[in-house]
Amino acid sequence: MGKPAGFLEFDRKARPAVPPLERIRDYREICLPQDPAECERQAARCMDCGIPFCQSGVKYSGESSGCPLHNLIPEYNDELYRGNWKQALTRLLKTNNFPEFTGRVCPAPCENACVCGIYDEPVTTHDNEYAIIEAGFANGWVVPRPPAVRSGKKVAVVGSGPAGLAAADCLNRRGHSVTVFERDARPGGLLMYGIPGMKLDKSVVKRRTDLMEAEGVEFIVHADVGRDIAPEDLTGRYDAVILCCGSRNARDISVPGRDAEGICFAVDFLREITEYRLGEKDQLRLDARGKQVVVVGGGDTGNDCVATALREGCAGIVQLDRNPKAPEQYEKGSMWPLRPKVYRADYGQEEAIALYGEDPRMFSSTVKEVLKDENGRICGIITVQIKKSTDKNGKRRITQLKGTEKEIPCDMLILAAGFAGCEDYVAQAFGAEKAPNGTLKTDAGHYATSVPGVFAAGDAHRGQSLVVWAIEEGRKCAKEVDHYLMEYSNM
Ligand SMILES: Cc1cc2nc3c(=O)[nH]c(=O)nc-3n(C[C@H](O)[C@H](O)[C@H](O)COP(=O)(O)OP(=O)(O)OC[C@H]3O[C@@H](n4cnc5c(N)ncnc54)[C@H](O)[C@@H]3O)c2cc1C
Ligand code: SF4
Repeated sequence: MGKPAGFLEFDRKARPAVPPLERIRDYREICLPQDPAECERQAARCMDCGIPFCQSGVKYSGESSGCPLHNLIPEYNDELYRGNWKQALTRLLKTNNFPEFTGRVCPAPCENACVCGIYDEPVTTHDNEYAIIEAGFANGWVVPRPPAVRSGKKVAVVGSGPAGLAAADCLNRRGHSVTVFERDARPGGLLMYGIPGMKLDKSVVKRRTDLMEAEGVEFIVHADVGRDIAPEDLTGRYDAVILCCGSRNARDISVPGRDAEGICFAVDFLREITEYRLGEKDQLRLDARGKQVVVVGGGDTGNDCVATALREGCAGIVQLDRNPKAPEQYEKGSMWPLRPKVYRADYGQEEAIALYGEDPRMFSSTVKEVLKDENGRICGIITVQIKKSTDKNGKRRITQLKGTEKEIPCDMLILAAGFAGCEDYVAQAFGAEKAPNGTLKTDAGHYATSVPGVFAAGDAHRGQSLVVWAIEEGRKCAKEVDHYLMEYSNM
């Protein structure tokens, strides 16, 4: 239970980070390891509250709260407080295949639901997770553990993002022979080519896929299923197929001037920078250097674009956020166990503030028109303020406010406006039905698609989400596939 009254004795101390003006010089990870003794003190703040909401992973008023993986948080905090790092790792790995990813990039809904956070600051669960798994790797406790017995069943996983990796990892440990087909040059999905290196170094992704390979998972890269590889090749040769192709249909904007040169999607921009840094590209086509960059979208992806444009040496940065600015103050505990809706600057915005002295976000704003020069290149945009409302039928409406138009300079426009489901060609190739929101259709709480023996998990199934949800989907889907293959499951 941690240290009785530890939460009264110790204040929250998050792991250190490289200062903003220093870290924008390169793509090294911005978070630094915590001193091990401090980690143990932080774990002592876990107060054995009786009902660990932190590990609940349930929905309140349409929002999810607590850890979707149901990580055994009080248990590993207790082991950590007692200095039993290896046992803490054992508890952590029981529910989470890849704590090194979540310990870096998870927005930690567990901490929003921490009982300690009602009156004080939540336990540093996210940082503790990172410390435990990194100690596991550093001390040689995380080693390849191939299954002792093989079942003789073969599973093909299409896509190697966190959902595909989690499904492959679980099924391989169960003894099935798993092959992962990935159309990119390296496995990892958005962990490799989406989330920028300063949040998740690419060596961390490779360390895990190397480990999985050593445990018997086969990775076939440059393998585009549905284009280069016929679906029948998989359905004929494998006992089950899992589609974990992500949610790659990026949302576009429909405004006058959209055809101008110099407009790109966030995932293409971020991907190209990573490919360049990994030596897979000789030069940058989507180059932010010296440009006035505008990012459309106030979410996490937009923030990653702000941070990346700064590292690339942009001349200026503006981020258009459709949401109004959240209040700076809120009554402690009033929004528990959900994420407090309060003004905060994420790491990219923090860096822009340090560099330019102001938040790059224009709140309640969107782009109304793109201005082009005589060569058809973007040279500015017209922004407009918007108001969100709900009509009497409960339908959400967005109204542009007349007279609030503003012209701002822009010679690179990056669209980070979200995603609308998985690409059509994979679904069509397999004949799998899609839901109206563009995801692969299954019964609620299940993973089997409309095609026998073909399953779906991750963003392709759930819609655009988080790494932690992708891992959870991969795990649950693996259990359903195991049942399909063996007619029972002990997973
Ligand atoms: C820029 C960005 C930043 C993000 N940052 C965070 C963050 O900080 N924290 C967080 O929790 N979440 C973050 N997310 C969300 C998170 O990355 C996704 O929810 C998660 O990666 C989804 O996992 P997935 O396995 O379902 O799909 P993906 O990670 O998208 O992987 C799908 C894989 O399938 C492959 N594929 C697709 N079609 C085929 C085919 N036909 N044949 C073979 N392979 C195919 C793709 O190449 C890809 O590798 C971010 C997303 C983006 C876009
Ligand atoms: S995976 Fe995310 S939500 Fe779960 S314990 Fe870790 S940081 Fe918290």
